[in-house]
Amino acid sequence: MLYCAPTGGFPQDRRVQLPAFEYLRPQSLAQALDWLAMYGTRAAVLAGGTDLLLAMRQRLVVPEVVIGIGDLPELRGVAFDGEGVLHLGAAETLTTLAGHPLLRVGQPALAAALQSVGSRHVRNVATLGGNLNLPTRCWYTNQSETWRQARVPCLKTGGDICFVIPGARECFALNGADGAVALLALDARLELASAGGRREVSIAGFYRNDGLAPTTLAAGELVTAVRVPAAAGRSTFIKIAPRTGLDYGLGTIAAVVAGDDDGITAARLVLGSIASWPVRLHEAERIVVAGGLTPATIEAAAQAARADLGELTNL
Ligand SMILES: Cc1cc2nc3c(=O)[nH]c(=O)nc-3n(C[C@H](O)[C@H](O)[C@H](O)COP(=O)(O)OP(=O)(O)OC[C@H]3O[C@@H](n4cnc5c(N)ncnc54)[C@H](O)[C@@H]3O)c2cc1C
Repeated sequence: MLYCAPTGGFPQDRRVQLPAFEYLRPQSLAQALDWLAMYGTRAAVLAGGTDLLLAMRQRLVVPEVVIGIGDLPELRGVAFDGEGVLHLGAAETLTTLAGHPLLRVGQPALAAALQSVGSRHVRNVATLGGNLNLPTRCWYTNQSETWRQARVPCLKTGGDICFVIPGARECFALNGADGAVALLALDARLELASAGGRREVSIAGFYRNDGLAPTTLAAGELVTAVRVPAAAGRSTFIKIAPRTGLDYGLGTIAAVVAGDDDGITAARLVLGSIASWPVRLHEAERIVVAGGLTPATIEAAAQAARADLGELTNL
């Protein structure tokens, strides 16, 4: 028989309590990076906590140490740099960014993507860095510990098989980070820092099509900021979700298209929530740039996208 805990749960019930951990609150980015290097895999980074705390409650992550980076001033700020590139601090909340005039006016696809995340309560604390580092998800793994313990482990929980795509030997968990979709269409770059130094990576180079290791973020590294170049054209973001304002997307698309009535000069089309990474539709882009936006080219681009994606099983 299923057991239901009353609101708040019983004090000793593992199903409703976080595991024990030590909470560290660094006073500077340098201190956070030193601690990350020192604690290694025993530590987890907490920004807004809207995903991490759920993952800890489900015992998907059980860190000994939690390092809170949400209020580090080095991870804040929304401003243009000297080259006209928009600099977004990784610890800025989605509410701040989605409502910021520099995004609403200059980067509408990004503002719309961030505005589409979860509910107002989630966006008020959720951060850009947390969104970009959101772990991949699937219906089999993202369950309570009790649910998982009654089943065979999957690739993400110590087993050797994926149950989402029956028999698969690779992990098909989905990347549902809406911000990543818009930022790939906008050709953004990420600033990363570790105790060993700093580096910059394109957002295309940050993600991998691998549900187990979906980013190239190294151990001990943090995303400190996102650099968004001026949009090379008009941009938009569309999300299909079961319930607006709460659910992850069943499918999302971001598009940046440049040109005028005489034709399209450039296009970047990106799909999200359908694979372990945001998927760029290179062939569809080529078709609309070569032939303009007509019913025939739009249909051809859609066919090319279907062919590129292969058989989709919406998880
Ligand atoms: C009800 C609900 C609905 C949601 N709906 C959506 C949705 O529609 N779309 C969507 O995209 N997301 C959704 N989310 C997921 C999540 O809330 C957001 O993606 C959010 O932006 C995560 O940010 P955070 O600051 O809370 O991250 P946290 O929970 O603090 O961290 C998430 C992960 O990122 C890592 N991390 C955080 N900051 C950094 C950094 N600067 N550098 C490196 N790693 C870092 C953490 O260690 C952790 O692994 C939803 C969550 C909930 C609870």
